[in-house]
Amino acid sequence: MFTQTKVCGYEIIINTTYSTKRLKGISLNSKTLLDSKIAKYNLTNEIVKYCQKLDQKGFGANHDGNISVKCGSELLATPTAVSKGNVIADIVITLDMQGNKISGVGKSFSEIKLHLAAYQARADVKAVVHAHPPFATARGLLHFPIKPALPEAIISIGDIVPVVAFSIPGTPKNEAVVAESLKEVDVFMIPGNGVFAVGDSIEQAYLRLELVEHLAKMDYYARTMGTPMELANEDIAGLLKKRAAAGLGTKNVANIVMETKTTSTQSIEIASSKTEDPQLNAIKDLIAAELRKIIGN
Ligand SMILES: [Zn+2]
Repeated sequence: MFTQTKVCGYEIIINTTYSTKRLKGISLNSKTLLDSKIAKYNLTNEIVKYCQKLDQKGFGANHDGNISVKCGSELLATPTAVSKGNVIADIVITLDMQGNKISGVGKSFSEIKLHLAAYQARADVKAVVHAHPPFATARGLLHFPIKPALPEAIISIGDIVPVVAFSIPGTPKNEAVVAESLKEVDVFMIPGNGVFAVGDSIEQAYLRLELVEHLAKMDYYARTMGTPMELANEDIAGLLKKRAAAGLGTKNVANIVMETKTTSTQSIEIASSKTEDPQLNAIKDLIAAELRKIIGN
């Protein structure tokens, strides 16, 4: 249960199920300290809220998925080896920006390096949400990018959701792929490892991940009934202009950090697996050609 209330002029969300006296101990003599504690309190509850959503939506099994968010000069993150449905405010951990744990009961998750790569690659990234939603994760296993045909979706996440190159979890190549991919998109599929989304808040990153799953699901249903439509190039161009006008898209983020610690030139992997359906192959070739244009591959 979550209730919203105002404390010292701040809107705060209280998780009444797990936390009732989270403000106890705040020094009222220090507004800065109070601000930072309230910010940490709010963001901790945001993590819990979106972990619940990931769980309720069936976006993972076992301990799948993780969330992190910038809080001042620190990171708040989900602990490893906990089902997202069991994440409560008391077990959210605090890390420095190198991934070292500052406080908290649990341990950091191994994919924290991918989150750190995202924060290092783009200064505008404030939160990362990663999960294994089934339709989009299946799509990643097929190395089959999503080319949204819903105009609203293009404004929200752009005209392509790529599948990045496969790499064994835990290897440095993963971090390089994340950093490179985020130069072009805010959300992408990792083969064998679900969806990775960034945003200026946990909510924005979560909604991007949720939208990708929704698009993958609709595309799957459409293909069971026939051949889905595609938008004309001029329509896509118009929608991308609207996206830019709304300040969305990596090209429109003024403070994007294009230099990353890695020197890898790993590029986004283009879907190339062929099927026995010539029409589907033609669509995939078209998507691959468009994607190559976008990423200059
Ligand atoms: Zn994962």
